[in-house]
Amino acid sequence: MHAVKIFLACLGTETNTFSPFRTGYRNFAETCLVREGAYGDSPFLFAVPLVIWERRARQLGWSVVHGLCAFAQPAGVTVRRVYESFRAEILADLNRAMPVDAVMLSLHGAMVADGYDDCEGDLLAAVRAAVGPKVSVGAELDLHCHLTQTMVENATVLVTFKEYPHDDAAERAEELFQLVAARMAGEVKPHMALFDCQMVGVFHTTQEPMKSYLSQVKSLEGEG
Ligand SMILES: [Zn+2]
Repeated sequence: MHAVKIFLACLGTETNTFSPFRTGYRNFAETCLVREGAYGDSPFLFAVPLVIWERRARQLGWSVVHGLCAFAQPAGVTVRRVYESFRAEILADLNRAMPVDAVMLSLHGAMVADGYDDCEGDLLAAVRAAVGPKVSVGAELDLHCHLTQTMVENATVLVTFKEYPHDDAAERAEELFQLVAARMAGEVKPHMALFDCQMVGVFHTTQEPMKSYLSQVKSLEGEG
């Protein structure tokens, strides 16, 4: 019997391109810079999905390989060599783990580095190139992400937080795991589409009108 192996990693920050404060190595080190799955007893928000995915995978008897988990608090554009070195580390971790059956990434979705307007699209494309077209690549994103066609084309499943403030990172991680596992079992064939509403706003999902809107969105899920 084929032993299933999955690869997990995290890379992100929420970039404000107007901010003069560059995001460098130290900003990641101060927020979250963890290797080999040592997330501790109270993991950082964007490490929570990795902890859940590892637990779920082990329950199924799958083996798990942890890549880099690096996250920085929101600030300005990330320094190019910092992004490139983290990307290289994740890809090296992945190459060592190969062959893998799935890759699951915890990302933010609004990370910009010098020369890279869409870090997540760039990273997902590099991961896709490494694993080939058949391997499931899933990513969990903050709902404040810039969803791009590059991200959609290079991922099998993307799941974003639904709540602002974000209290559903764990719930969405479970959801992503279920979708990736079902896809690996041939039970579902995920298909993604992207629509730009041309709106920018701050919408608290704990308050109306977003509270009702979100429950309507949830009620429609799985209905075809
Ligand atoms: Zn956010």
